[in-house]
Amino acid sequence: MNPQGLPTNTQEIRAVISRIPRVELACLPTPLQEARRLSEILGGPRIFVKRDDLTGVALGGNKTRNLEFRLAAAKASGADLIVMELDQQSNSARLTTGCCNRLGMDTVLILEGSEPDVVQGNLLLDHLLGAEVRFASSRSEQLRMSREAVAEAWAAGRTPCLLNDIPMFDEGSAIAYLESACEVVESLEVQGLAPDCLYMSSSGKGQAGHVLAQKLLGGFRVRGITATDEFDIPPRGAAIANRAARTLGLDITVAPEDFVNDADYVGAAYGIPSEAGNEAVRLFARTEGIVLDPIYTGKAAAGMIGHVRRGDFKSGEIVVFVHSGGTPAIFTHNHLWLDNKAKPQGGEKP
Ligand SMILES: *Cc1c(COP(=O)(O)O)cnc(C)c1O
Repeated sequence: MNPQGLPTNTQEIRAVISRIPRVELACLPTPLQEARRLSEILGGPRIFVKRDDLTGVALGGNKTRNLEFRLAAAKASGADLIVMELDQQSNSARLTTGCCNRLGMDTVLILEGSEPDVVQGNLLLDHLLGAEVRFASSRSEQLRMSREAVAEAWAAGRTPCLLNDIPMFDEGSAIAYLESACEVVESLEVQGLAPDCLYMSSSGKGQAGHVLAQKLLGGFRVRGITATDEFDIPPRGAAIANRAARTLGLDITVAPEDFVNDADYVGAAYGIPSEAGNEAVRLFARTEGIVLDPIYTGKAAAGMIGHVRRGDFKSGEIVVFVHSGGTPAIFTHNHLWLDNKAKPQGGEKP
């Protein structure tokens, strides 16, 4: 600890995080893999991939990490049934259901949209995992239906919890990615290396954790690439980081200027694959055998690749790309991957 009482290394950060109630759900630490062929073809820095798509529950993803905190809070309230309002192709819905199964809780998903003709991707997995899936035609209908599901559960003698009401989603994600950043630093440390920059698909929650790690440990840059233009991310992310710091009892303040988040890779809109994102999905698959997704991680990888191509990094610098999951969306957008002849395209040397 430094004179201000702040942790200054990963062990001290882990000790601070260990005070937060939590259930064990994810296989941690996730692997950190060097992407040598990808680095070579881009002609830029050394790239390592943090495999948070391998968190071990229901095909993996970043949400497994924050569910360790959110479901601990739900369990503490005595819940045996989780109700959740989400989108029809939600990674969060799939991972919540998988994690609830591990904790012996039932899941009712109230998904915005109508039942599709072809059930694929996350929705298929929601069914396989045994969630009770109900469709809401609008956001107001979704709110009404989730309250109805909660009331029904009470009437049936169950103890429901509306997970949207647990405030730990934001802070839990930030704390989880503070820990994930510690794992990255530790994985590189044993190789005598240290990160120069962390990249992740984020609308602010996970990135808030990376920014806290940067404030506490120093020595690296943090870049978020968002998949949605719904939020003004720097002020939102800074507010989340500050709430997480308070929850952890850390006397530090994050300002919106501390948040570098690139909204240039959203494409047409959230949920709609982009050319650049799809190219990145193909490139990771064909150089490294790593399957990204076209909604979040492909767009984030496109951002990282764009930054490498414009010369943001020197050769030998160490860039870490966090694969936050989302892979079931590959199957929802199957037509994008049928062009076998396309060869991966490299970049010009910066
Ligand atoms: C939810 C999600 C994100 C965004 O996470 P934040 O909490 O906003 O940082 C990124 N990638 C995938 C695959 C996701 O499911």
